[in-house]
Amino acid sequence: MARGQQKIQSQQKNAKKQAGQKKKQGHDQKAAAKAALMYTCTVCRTQMPDPKTFKQHFESKHPKTPLPPELADVQA
Ligand SMILES: [Zn+2]
Repeated sequence: MARGQQKIQSQQKNAKKQAGQKKKQGHDQKAAAKAALMYTCTVCRTQMPDPKTFKQHFESKHPKTPLPPELADVQA
């Protein structure tokens, strides 16, 4: 009897834990997706996750275009 009760409690605990993880993962993925598309190239509209990648992209793809001011301080 006690063992069965423990099993049920354990299952409930796991279900709660999994639900919490699911919720957290969903939130993280949403935030990550949002963060992953933070930088859009002003020339070709390619989206990049961070200023470093953006600057490298800009320097290699659009060397004749002046660097956007927000990239001037970025260490590539
Ligand atoms: Zn570009």
